[in-house]
Amino acid sequence: MKIDNYFKSGQLLLRAKQAMPGGVNSPVRAFKNIDMDPIVIASAKGARLIDEDKNSYIDYLNGWGPMILGHAFPLVTKAVRVQAKKSLCFGAITELEILLAELIKQMLPNVHLIRMVNSGTEACMSAIRVARGYTHKNKIIKIEGCYHGHADALLAASGSGVAEFSVQSTPGVPSSSTNDTLIVPYNDIPALEAIIKKNQNTIAALIIEPVPGNMGCVLPQPHYLEEIRKICTREKIVLIFDEVMTGFRISSGGAQAYYGVEADIVTLGKIIGGGLPVGAYGGKRAIMEFVAPLGSVYQAGTNSGNPIAMIAGYTTLKYLRDNKNIYQDLEKKTKKLTKELRNIFQRHAVPIQIVEIGSMFTIYFTANNIHNFQDTKTANTSYFKKYFKYCFLNGIYMSPSPFESCFISLPLSQKDIDYTCAVTEAFVSKFPYIAHQND
Ligand SMILES: *Cc1c(COP(=O)(O)O)cnc(C)c1O
Repeated sequence: MKIDNYFKSGQLLLRAKQAMPGGVNSPVRAFKNIDMDPIVIASAKGARLIDEDKNSYIDYLNGWGPMILGHAFPLVTKAVRVQAKKSLCFGAITELEILLAELIKQMLPNVHLIRMVNSGTEACMSAIRVARGYTHKNKIIKIEGCYHGHADALLAASGSGVAEFSVQSTPGVPSSSTNDTLIVPYNDIPALEAIIKKNQNTIAALIIEPVPGNMGCVLPQPHYLEEIRKICTREKIVLIFDEVMTGFRISSGGAQAYYGVEADIVTLGKIIGGGLPVGAYGGKRAIMEFVAPLGSVYQAGTNSGNPIAMIAGYTTLKYLRDNKNIYQDLEKKTKKLTKELRNIFQRHAVPIQIVEIGSMFTIYFTANNIHNFQDTKTANTSYFKKYFKYCFLNGIYMSPSPFESCFISLPLSQKDIDYTCAVTEAFVSKFPYIAHQND
């Protein structure tokens, strides 16, 4: 990196490291997986990020998912400003949380009751608790490579962050917390059936990202989600779809609507906060009635339903509901980009799999089809690092890991797509593919 172009970021990073572990408040932000120093962001507008040295980047990170409408979307910014004048926190009921809850119920018809929390982590952790309370069973099934936040019981085999930092059994998580967590591969019904048979009548819930995005984007094989639904119904296992990433991202009804499969509980986050910290879990009335104070499963939060977060989320969701063509637009843009990228890499004999759905995509440098976590691991990470770095130095900000999803936002333009392709073309010409060198 040319130090002078990133001088202020470098200075701030030194200070950050003196004050915060690794200089960050969430591990993947440290760019450790791509052997680079991260830069410090100053502002963003639309699909463009500006760093502290005034370098500008096309944003394919989208704040890791929430910013589907782009940064500083005027309607959302205005709504937040108006609400801020009326105070930031009450710790009591407001109409805003009712509006957001009603809107989510309308957009996700199998959500009869919903509880707002502050993050996706909290949503998944709480959903598991309710499922256990409801079924009076303890074990849960988790899919290898899926990420459901950092709650103890869910930190087994959890996708890119944990995998890349080589935290196999995460220190700090006692085995007593993960003993009841059973792991099966994605897209593998026989493995699921086998584990259920071995643990008959002890499994409370199956939690899954219906379309995983946290081991990189991976798609369900035909009928996989339907099969899971059938099995859970048959075995009286609560089916939890973690749609923190896919909810209101791959369609206005998330993966449930996209694939026509309904879960018992859905967890949400990212987009429903419009950029502010919000999570939620909701689902069938009979299950959600177990949540306190209606039922006996305790779960609470000082800032849950925070008015500023609610108005940002509500304004974002309402815009998405009222402008349904957004999803077609986003999908079109994504397809245009991934098709062209695929062509470029193929023309240069680079082994490539680009997996995409809606406005999510991941570029894997591998010839293998991607159906599960083990498949994603065949991707050439050293070539990815080179590609990431080249894009980055040329003003394109992708997800800083070979095993994460990139996102497309509403304001991303054809010009941005053309530029991304031009930079990619220049990269492959300059750096011919070198076969596997994974460390
Ligand atoms: C981001 C994410 C989470 C965790 O949400 P946080 O708000 O970061 O706690 C959980 N599940 C999925 C599928 C996610 O993408």
